[in-house]
Amino acid sequence: MLETHGSLAAGVARLGTETAFSVLARAKEMEAQGRDVIHLEIGEPDFDTPAHITEAAVAALRAGETHYCPAAGIAELREAIAEELSRTRGVSVAAQRVLVANGAKPFLFFTILATCEPGDEVIYPDPGFPIYESAIRWAGATPVALPLREEHDFSFAVDELRERLTPRTKLVILNSPQNPTGGVTPAADLAAAAQAILETPAWVLSDEVYARLIYGEAFASIAGEPGMLERTVLLDGFSKTYAMTGWRCGYAAVPEALVEPLTRFFVNSTSCVPPFVQHAGVAALTGPQDDVAAMVAEFEARRDLIVEGLNALPGVSCRTPKGAFYVFPNVSGTPLSAEVLAARLLEEADVAVLAGTAFGAEGADHLRLSYANSQENLRSALERIDSFLAGL
Ligand code: PLP
Repeated sequence: MLETHGSLAAGVARLGTETAFSVLARAKEMEAQGRDVIHLEIGEPDFDTPAHITEAAVAALRAGETHYCPAAGIAELREAIAEELSRTRGVSVAAQRVLVANGAKPFLFFTILATCEPGDEVIYPDPGFPIYESAIRWAGATPVALPLREEHDFSFAVDELRERLTPRTKLVILNSPQNPTGGVTPAADLAAAAQAILETPAWVLSDEVYARLIYGEAFASIAGEPGMLERTVLLDGFSKTYAMTGWRCGYAAVPEALVEPLTRFFVNSTSCVPPFVQHAGVAALTGPQDDVAAMVAEFEARRDLIVEGLNALPGVSCRTPKGAFYVFPNVSGTPLSAEVLAARLLEEADVAVLAGTAFGAEGADHLRLSYANSQENLRSALERIDSFLAGL
């Protein structure tokens, strides 16, 4: 028999993962054994998709919208997205520059694959969504971490971005509101970052999937800075805003030069987003927005509850994040490392959380908790964590 039988491509070793999914799997195993786990590990709204959106999908299914459709997205949805992005980002986005994919994730992967190769450097936030580093490494490009520091409210310092820009920088990935910290980049910093990036040939990928989940601040996009739309993949999606994580639908306004290559990636991989899902997307963008407003108000109340509760725990301190549905408490005052604490909270206190290092080296000493869970469950989780810490 050949020795190479069944061997994997070397590149597979470079592909990372999302720890949230492995912790979720372990928590589900525990639940199957009768344990009552509180889920603060996974980043998805616990609300149902608003009814009128589901109804639009059902109507589309009944109308036979069940076949292949254009890989770039159906015209009706691309137009609705162009209008939405133009209105909310203060830019003029043409529908031909809008692409629809199976979630925001494919845009991360395919934008990196379409623009980066060995020798290229990609600046990305640390701590940050783990798929960025995974895709950069898969492309064989060099990841260059841009630290998001706690004392800077988990936004990057423009000077630290400037120091990392080199002639080899091919792409800069930004994310605000941010996963895992909830940090929001101030508009003035985005303007200064745009100035620095405009002096280089780098593309920008602005991950704005939490744009609507922002508390008391006006949302700002780097794509709104003069000259930036032409080099920015402005990424958003339905998952977080409309509680549609399982529908798998995301979208982006992309620079003209990327429209055809990214569409070709879709043709090569997924072909298209199911048309009935895209009709649901049209209903989401053009229909009533009161469900979104109600979800955002509830998230804000939960944020206040969990921040206050965490700050009352011994050895824990937590900033008040301005966006998304995550908190990133510093646990360096507890007797355990964040990794051990996260593991033991799951196994011994039935509370599923993630260690900050699941999002990069800068996440050391922190936990990430998703507060996309009921106030009742958040209170119970805080009580369980408190008892666990008291027993150490
Ligand atoms: N970008 C960030 C920052 C995220 O946190 C997530 C999901 O957790 C995504 C992208 C992926 O979203 P989608 O469900 O649209 O693929």
